[in-house]
Amino acid sequence: MRRLLLAGVLALAAGACVPRSDGLSEQDWPDRSPRHDVVEELRADLLRARSAADGGGTATVAALRGPAVAGSPGSWRIVYRAGPAGVAVGGTVHLQVSPFWGWSTPQTERPEALGYTTIETAAAGVELSAETLDQQLLAVGVGGRPLAAGQEIVITYGAGPAGALADRYAERESRFWIGVDGDGDGVRELIGESPAVDVLPGQPARLLLHVPSTARPGDRVELNAALVDAAGNGWPAAAGTLDLRLPARVGLVDSRADSAAERERIVSLALAVEDRGRLVVPLRLSAEAGGVIRVRGRLMGAAAEPGFEAESNPLVVSPAGRRILWADLQNHSGLSDGSAIPDDLLRYAREVAALDAAAVTDHDHWGMRFMDGEPSIWRRTLDAADARNEPGRFVALAGYEWTNWVEGHRHVVFFEPSSGTAAGLLRSSIDERYDEPRELWAGLEDVRALTFAHHSAGAPIATDWSSPPPAELEPVTEIVSVHGASEAADAPGTVVRNALAGNFVRDALDRGYRLGFVGSSDGHDGHPGLAHLASPSGGVAAILSDEVTREGIYGALLARRAYATNGPRIVIRASYAGWPIGADIPAAAAAAGTVGPIAGVPEATLVVRAVAPGEIARIEVVSRQGASGKGALTGEALCGEGERECSLTVQLPGFQAGGYLYLRVIQRDGGAAWTSPFFFE
Ligand SMILES: [Zn+2]
Ligand SMILES: [Zn+2]
Repeated sequence: MRRLLLAGVLALAAGACVPRSDGLSEQDWPDRSPRHDVVEELRADLLRARSAADGGGTATVAALRGPAVAGSPGSWRIVYRAGPAGVAVGGTVHLQVSPFWGWSTPQTERPEALGYTTIETAAAGVELSAETLDQQLLAVGVGGRPLAAGQEIVITYGAGPAGALADRYAERESRFWIGVDGDGDGVRELIGESPAVDVLPGQPARLLLHVPSTARPGDRVELNAALVDAAGNGWPAAAGTLDLRLPARVGLVDSRADSAAERERIVSLALAVEDRGRLVVPLRLSAEAGGVIRVRGRLMGAAAEPGFEAESNPLVVSPAGRRILWADLQNHSGLSDGSAIPDDLLRYAREVAALDAAAVTDHDHWGMRFMDGEPSIWRRTLDAADARNEPGRFVALAGYEWTNWVEGHRHVVFFEPSSGTAAGLLRSSIDERYDEPRELWAGLEDVRALTFAHHSAGAPIATDWSSPPPAELEPVTEIVSVHGASEAADAPGTVVRNALAGNFVRDALDRGYRLGFVGSSDGHDGHPGLAHLASPSGGVAAILSDEVTREGIYGALLARRAYATNGPRIVIRASYAGWPIGADIPAAAAAAGTVGPIAGVPEATLVVRAVAPGEIARIEVVSRQGASGKGALTGEALCGEGERECSLTVQLPGFQAGGYLYLRVIQRDGGAAWTSPFFFE
């Protein structure tokens, strides 16, 4: 079943799940939750009768000015050919250029302006009319005589000198959606296969260097060097020379120089056009290597003058401590209202963003087509995740967003192979059997899956926290994303729009819920892990797991061994009396200042060390002493000017059952991290 939403609902779709900063979604999203009206419209649309002529026909697209390049003008000819039932007088053929992200709106009024579109047919007696109905949506009306089977309408999009702008995000299969109301009753349906074009990245504009955040002395690690264009699109073509400044005790793994040098040195590597803007450089850490390693690099050559400079995220080398994995567990692909096909989205996560894990989580019932009604689309996500999952190196996960406009949005991520029948079931937010959180959770009981409430404090819809999240299905919550932070009104960085007082994550903790914290991009740009390049806020999760597997990540999240950042890969090592972040700590002992299960760790001592890409302004302690009262900022350590490493050791006894404590590490540039709380019981 393929559905094309009515214009009104589609307009909502375009603005619903992206931040205002995106520029496209300036239309006002009403400041109210819940949205019963949206659910009613979606359900009514499902019930509308479609005639055999609706959605009939085929279409093709051809580029008239060369391939589509992200954010650049082009011109395309779309040919629609009527199906067996034709299109009646009064019927319409709709061109919905992808409403995501930045394609020009097709218009037939101003030949000089962007998006100018001409409409023609050779069918004798058929009179066409055209009207721009909404963002990126043009309706072509059939008059005079019906368009008979096989007869064509030729639509030239970008026919004027200005052309039409392509999507600012590069992607394969950007669709020119064709909807047909064949009988003229006002109800339309998408044709079976709308034509698509590939949108290529623009010129390289930035070099990104990523290394793991943690390693042991003597380890081999990979440095991932990737070029992106101005919008963060990956794999732009460029050739040049990459000069890497390797710190002392870091060696290049190759046949000639296998050992790490005593002093800093520069190595030069050739970047060929075939490398598609990406080099993976294996490095070896010396057996004595300790401390913090940051690799600087500069790309010289055809790409730019005087070259792109970059510094990697910090790598903390230590024989102790769990490995930190970076994950982005919420991403929308072009299957709903995002960019890129699922396979490319996962490939970007690994090859460009150098993440350890990523999930594709398209909307169940939102966007141009609905996954809950089309098993083949949902299958594409499941298959991509299974194909890209490589235990030990990269964890690819499939999921979907339970896009509930009454209870709040939650994404569901599966941690088992999708060939398992249970994981294959998509429990839709529009399905009355699963439209309440407890029904969703009951449906997931026997499945290795987790749910994550997101943008929970406010826009586009706040979470109804009256349903207590079960620890085995919702141990952590997404505290920050492109929508901003939902932690508290005083959260660092951007706070979600239209936040409801009393509905922040901290308020949920004050209800007694034990939730760890992750960040996810909730990205719609096809750039997992790097959404903050194009948005004031992003979101990534640091997951403390030595195992780079679905099981390892699932186990760490269940134990709340995770923390969130709004983009930067900040390393945080924190413990309370030797307990890791996310732990349940016996309160009776904590109250007396006598906890301390690990030898050598002073009792009731909070130990924090932060190492960040940017300058750290301060480390803040947010806590609640016991079961009553509200959590609040209760302490802070100011860090030295220019310091990118900062530590805090403080005695904090006196916690009672129901108390909690978490940390915020705040960079001077607004980058921030939130640790999962320590809970006292
Ligand atoms: Zn959402
Ligand atoms: Zn989302």
